[in-house]
Amino acid sequence: MKKISLALGILIGYLPFSAADCNQLHALLPGKVFFEPSEIYNASISSYFPLQGRLSPTCILRPESAKDVSLAVKTLARKRSTHFAIRSGGHSPNHGFSNIDDGVTIDLRSMNDIALSKDWKIARVQSGAVWGDVYPVTDQVGVSVIGGRGGTVGTGGFITGGGISAFSRRRGWGCDNVVNFQVVLASGEIVDANAAHNKDLFRALKGGQNNFGVVTRIDLMTHEQSPFLGGAILYPKEAFDATLDAFTEYMNRSTFDPDELAELSYTYVGGDQSFSLLLNTFHSGSVQSPNSLQRWTSIQPQISSTVRTTNMSKKLQPSSCKVYADLKRVMYGTTSVGISPTIMKKAYTLWEAAVNDTLSRISGMNSAFIIQPTPPPPKSFANSLGFGNAAVPEADSVIVLLAHNWDSEADSKVVEDRTYELIREINNAAADEHVEERFRYLNYAASKQKIFDGYGQASKAFLRKVARKYDPDGVFQRQVKGGFKVF
Ligand SMILES: Cc1cc2nc3c(=O)[nH]c(=O)nc-3n(C[C@H](O)[C@H](O)[C@H](O)COP(=O)(O)OP(=O)(O)OC[C@H]3O[C@@H](n4cnc5c(N)ncnc54)[C@H](O)[C@@H]3O)c2cc1C
Repeated sequence: MKKISLALGILIGYLPFSAADCNQLHALLPGKVFFEPSEIYNASISSYFPLQGRLSPTCILRPESAKDVSLAVKTLARKRSTHFAIRSGGHSPNHGFSNIDDGVTIDLRSMNDIALSKDWKIARVQSGAVWGDVYPVTDQVGVSVIGGRGGTVGTGGFITGGGISAFSRRRGWGCDNVVNFQVVLASGEIVDANAAHNKDLFRALKGGQNNFGVVTRIDLMTHEQSPFLGGAILYPKEAFDATLDAFTEYMNRSTFDPDELAELSYTYVGGDQSFSLLLNTFHSGSVQSPNSLQRWTSIQPQISSTVRTTNMSKKLQPSSCKVYADLKRVMYGTTSVGISPTIMKKAYTLWEAAVNDTLSRISGMNSAFIIQPTPPPPKSFANSLGFGNAAVPEADSVIVLLAHNWDSEADSKVVEDRTYELIREINNAAADEHVEERFRYLNYAASKQKIFDGYGQASKAFLRKVARKYDPDGVFQRQVKGGFKVF
């Protein structure tokens, strides 16, 4: 009898996935599984940020608790032919990373509770919450967290991929400000990962994203934060030379100001074939008029400026950068370079050439070349991003994000090919100047980029070991197809 049920179990495990499996999920979690064309199903699909994220899962699960996620993962893991996707804010531009055709999408957005501890030192955030939900809760008591700069970005993807915030030059990556992850493993077990329990999983989740389980709650350290200076300055092309020089100076190790985070988005807008620069600057120190900000405010000409005293809830108001427009195909790609007197101008020139020779011919194209400093490595508990404690990337290393959006799927291959080529060109220019870097930021990366190689061999081996330990059957490697995989 035992043998027959074992054989049956194995057979079921390999039967093809079908709508009946979604019905089974529906029976286990009534009222939480949705099919096309229900209103909730359609609303979930149309809420993906990039157009290509809007796939057609067989059903969508909207869990309301870690227990729901546990029951679902246990059920889905039983049948190897079932594929599923994990979705928090749905902002990944990579095809199939947080949604799926023919399978189950676990849309975590009903799990969006945010609670502050009594002393306000910890914010407990369910991983379906977006940053625009978090800051109003923290701002009202004068604290903040290391979270996203876009209100609709999900906490789940942002934190597990690293996370660069307005305060990151001083306070590091978002993931390094986590004190505990609540995680549902492939077995369905709900565990905590922190500096005392499941330490290896705790470290792996800081940069390893969806390779180990479904994160259901993130406990974040808060820090005191009074209103700070921040805003955007929009410059015309005539100011580009001066801003690239100013950015190189801003990265100077001897004078850098850890309270200031500057993100420069050089943007091409296809509609009017214009180039402009949107500088987002945050100064979180107590100084009223910091010298470092004058570096930007003194550059002329400017089209507009919104630099003012603000807080994160206000700062999240919609960006004027047209690269973030809705209902478009989106591609991100990234590289990192060290700083030298001329590398920023060389990299910018390569991007402008790519716009002129190829991207500007694409219908509806908006493209951006975005640069910002790499956050410092953690002072205490390690993450998996691969920087040593002695590294000073906040002064030495620049993360380059190439972001495009455009209209038609027919143009996607041309955009992708030119973006990968541009990354190679920037890397070659960096190599010529001896400032080539290995690290690639996962949350900005295109799907073919080798993220975990960029963390270094030791970190990659560590991530593989942790994946084998917590998910011995490889559920999150094989059944959750989307995402950067450690194997
Ligand atoms: C408008 C915009 C603004 C941005 N601003 C910033 C910024 O300020 N700083 C920055 O660092 N990045 C920023 N990003 C990049 C952003 O961090 C990544 O796109 C991030 O992965 C988005 O997370 P998400 O939860 O919204 O995405 P999703 O598409 O839902 O998920 C991304 C990946 O994470 C996995 N994942 C999501 N939730 C979980 C979970 N709970 N458990 C396990 N795996 C999970 C998914 O399976 C998927 O592979 C921005 C992106 C956009 C589009």
